[in-house]
Amino acid sequence: MTLDEIFKEIQKSESIVILTHESPDGDAVGSSLAMKLALESLGKKPDVIIPEYAEIFKFLPGTKDIKESSDVKNYDLAISLDCATLKRLMGSEYFENAKRTIVIDHHGSNNMFGDFNYVNPVSPACCEILAGIFDYYNINITKEIGSCLLTGIITDTGGFKYPATTAETFEFTAELLRKGVNVSDIYRRVLQTVSRAHFELAKKVMDRMEILENGKVTFSYIDKNDEQEVGAKPGDHEGLVELGRDIDGVEVSIFIRQKEDGSDDYKVSLRSTEYVNVSDVCLMFGGGGHPRAAGALVSGTIEEVKKKLLKEIKKVL
Ligand code: 5GP
Ligand code: MN
Repeated sequence: MTLDEIFKEIQKSESIVILTHESPDGDAVGSSLAMKLALESLGKKPDVIIPEYAEIFKFLPGTKDIKESSDVKNYDLAISLDCATLKRLMGSEYFENAKRTIVIDHHGSNNMFGDFNYVNPVSPACCEILAGIFDYYNINITKEIGSCLLTGIITDTGGFKYPATTAETFEFTAELLRKGVNVSDIYRRVLQTVSRAHFELAKKVMDRMEILENGKVTFSYIDKNDEQEVGAKPGDHEGLVELGRDIDGVEVSIFIRQKEDGSDDYKVSLRSTEYVNVSDVCLMFGGGGHPRAAGALVSGTIEEVKKKLLKEIKKVL
């Protein structure tokens, strides 16, 4: 299916649902809301279903319409954004029951689970892919759509600092700035400002940080007890994995977070700086992501999970 055929598919669909990945980040929420606004400009009334997302994104246009679930069983069209697999998709039942499905993503580990898959692994953000698609469809990128797209671009490029950042990223941002999008306000809200709970978690993560493998690997963790203690809300753990990565000489930062109280399941986050492909490492555990940022779910005690990860990381260090 080409982009033109997708456009026809959108036009003939009465009911459309927009879905994204669990633990939604700025690119997930931003691309969902941008797609919603863009489809509305075409006269559509899509549903955006995101059961849970961080408070920091509440300033974005359209968040008041975000639904936790829907009564519609069989949507004409389901669009998955910024999500590599059906397993990670929130509201995957709406996707599975939809008559037609479209996947738009930038994860190299995407397993092409839609009827149509538009996946560009070299794009720094799903939002940047959408900017190109909207342009192709002659959809006017308003200040509102631009604010949503920029949110995803800023969060997924770490504020324009990751190597995946392109000349187009800067050109598009400059265009938005000319349109009146408040770039520095969005930057501060989604990247710079942290909640008090995040700050308290960061202190624990730093305090527990182990520096291993001659300073090339760091390891730290939080459990549910820590999150309860500081009153953590969804999204408050975002970015904690970067505390280890930013130390001079570190190639891989490992951060693990207990999934549920008392459980032996840990959500693993890996980051690398120069050469280790952490997406490949995570694929060994059934996860995935990008070469420099990836995740997986691993079972065991904290020590066991650490050992399993270190064994694989040592091979590629
Ligand atoms: P984070 O460490 O911030 O949770 O995730 C980093 C990157 O890896 C994101 O692009 C995210 O979508 C991806 N990722 C995280 N966890 C998983 C997982 O369990 N499976 C897959 N396929 N990708 C993941
Ligand atoms: Mn993304």
